[in-house]
Amino acid sequence: MLIVMNHKAGPKQIEAVTMAVEAMGLTAAPIPGSERTAIGVLGNKGYVDDTNIRDLPGVQEVIHVSKPYKLVSRDFHPRPTIVKVGGVEIGEGKRPVVVAGPCAVESEEQILKTARAVKKAGADLLRGGAFKPRTGPHTFQGLREEGLKLLAKAREATGLPIVTEVMSPDNVGLVAEYADLLQVGARNMQNFDLLRELGKIRKPVLLKRGMSATIEEFLAAAEYVLAEGNHQVILCERGIRTFETATRNTLDLAVVPLVKELSHLPIMVDPSHATGKRSLVAPMSKAALVAGAHGVLVEVHPEPEKALSDGPQSLTFAGFDRLMEEVTRLNAFLGFK
Ligand code: PEP
Ligand code: MN
Repeated sequence: MLIVMNHKAGPKQIEAVTMAVEAMGLTAAPIPGSERTAIGVLGNKGYVDDTNIRDLPGVQEVIHVSKPYKLVSRDFHPRPTIVKVGGVEIGEGKRPVVVAGPCAVESEEQILKTARAVKKAGADLLRGGAFKPRTGPHTFQGLREEGLKLLAKAREATGLPIVTEVMSPDNVGLVAEYADLLQVGARNMQNFDLLRELGKIRKPVLLKRGMSATIEEFLAAAEYVLAEGNHQVILCERGIRTFETATRNTLDLAVVPLVKELSHLPIMVDPSHATGKRSLVAPMSKAALVAGAHGVLVEVHPEPEKALSDGPQSLTFAGFDRLMEEVTRLNAFLGFK
């Protein structure tokens, strides 16, 4: 339930409503806005009887929200959230960002080379997996903490903030020591203990859509993080499983404008995992930006044919340079400097 106060309601009236909500055994979360305050009601299991609330002074309207997410929704928070990663701002009205780097951190040379190349080409953030969620246990699983240390070195060398995946609740503290943005991979979108743990930290989270998750499940997963107190969440569409096998996944770009209608959180697109094919990464990056994405996340490797994971979808340095030239022109066309 969402209680919308009228624009003249003062702190005393807001306090009275908050107390009335708490007297019902529920939690009140005031959401200050530029024109008026709304009060989100959390903790209810079903419909809330609003008779003790709707006639209190200052209450303009009571909206019953039946979706499984509230804090994430536009109803609760009409203005777009801007997430700050290092010094980079991500969200509506900001120039879309480009996150680039290898699928996995493989060696010091590999990550430093890549970091320098993508920085030179104009990337905003560096990505690279240290904890890798691989389909089978006999493939490269990542350098784990050593990989995090190498990412920190690459950040030092280039100034690029780093994005890396955290796979288990036990490792949230460790990954948060190094990362500027903690990624939850598609396979963990509904790892609710992980999401809760990420809700307790004060670093931003990049939540990828599960490969067979509906939009409602996607947003409800983000709600777990916000519900624990961390509102710095960026969503990321990375393709879903369909009958089609010619591409690795099917890139559902309608998610971008739809999520913007439903939620205030930023939404990015990962055309690398969505397509699985190097040749499709640039066209789908541009399509994502035209659809209104707040950024794209692309895999880049110094020698894709030798990559320990996801080589076929990784751009070469030259390919990334070309993409950045196109993205820069497109951003200018879209009205971003
Ligand atoms: C990744 O970005 O490294 C990754 C594993 O992606 P996804 O979780 O989307 O498959
Ligand atoms: Mn990958």
